Amino acid sequence: MEEGRLANKVAVITGGGNGIGRATALRFSEEGAAVVVADIQDDKAKETAEMILSTGGRAKHISVDVSSGSDNDEMADMAVAEFGGLDCLVTAAGISHANYVSGDIEPDIKNIVANRADYLERPGWEFVEGDIDSFDKVLNVNLRGTLLGMQSCVAKMLENETQGSIVTVASIAAKHPDAGPVSYTVSKAGVWMLTKKAARMLGPVGIRVNSIGPGFINTHMTAIIDLMDESETAAFNEMIPLGRRGEPIDIANAALFLCSDEASYFTGEILHPDGGFFTE
Ligand code: NAD
Repeated sequence: MEEGRLANKVAVITGGGNGIGRATALRFSEEGAAVVVADIQDDKAKETAEMILSTGGRAKHISVDVSSGSDNDEMADMAVAEFGGLDCLVTAAGISHANYVSGDIEPDIKNIVANRADYLERPGWEFVEGDIDSFDKVLNVNLRGTLLGMQSCVAKMLENETQGSIVTVASIAAKHPDAGPVSYTVSKAGVWMLTKKAARMLGPVGIRVNSIGPGFINTHMTAIIDLMDESETAAFNEMIPLGRRGEPIDIANAALFLCSDEASYFTGEILHPDGGFFTE
């Protein structure tokens, strides 16, 4: 008999190979959950699963591209086949721009500098000339990927009559247009609306659906902030009322709360662990 706030629960974590997803997988395991770690970077997913196994926890890893329906189905099947059910899903897989590769800073640098000077000279044209293929790529991973993961996992919950909990990972960008490019902000606004819609549709069967909208968290996704001048990085951090960027564990703890029975009356909500950066 496992102990902890997620004792005897089975959790699926997409994007579990790095950053927020990995921290969530480790935290959930500490609280007694068996974890399916899913990521497009299979070696990183395996590493996370091995970290859990080395502490005596239960974990399996699987290579998943969240934009693929069949990959998501295999992920949900694995939870049931290996651990006997599926109680929690956290959809942490995501990209901040079309060429994003977690752990590789070069595409981030190219993304930031691409045509920047040119567009400063030509206000408005950056919007008109936004690359639609890049837009589709980000929407496919962040929004379609979230929907497909939810559909595959909810199917298992319905089949097994499990009153599960789903946590999507949106961003302050869901509500704040300055927190990323068009594709990212629109995708995260979509994730937030998808969360609210799913909460309405699944409330009657007892499945709760909530979102987390993090501020700036220290993962590969924000590593570029530390490449700025030291004074610029310091000024950036000072914009945050708590004076620092968040850590992946800050988000993992929010996800833990939302998946635990302590949040049994929460659905259709979004939490913003952001150090006070974004106020509505
Ligand atoms: P990260 O790069 O450390 O982790 C993202 C993970 O998603 C990586 O393991 C990556 O391999 C995986 N991934 C990417 N595309 C995938 C795909 N198609 N299929 C499966 N896995 C895929 O970054 P992170 O900061 O931990 O990001 C996690 C989530 O948090 C993302 O959705 C991101 O948008 C969101 N978020 C991050 C921040 C931040 O400041 N770091 C802020 C707000 C929201």
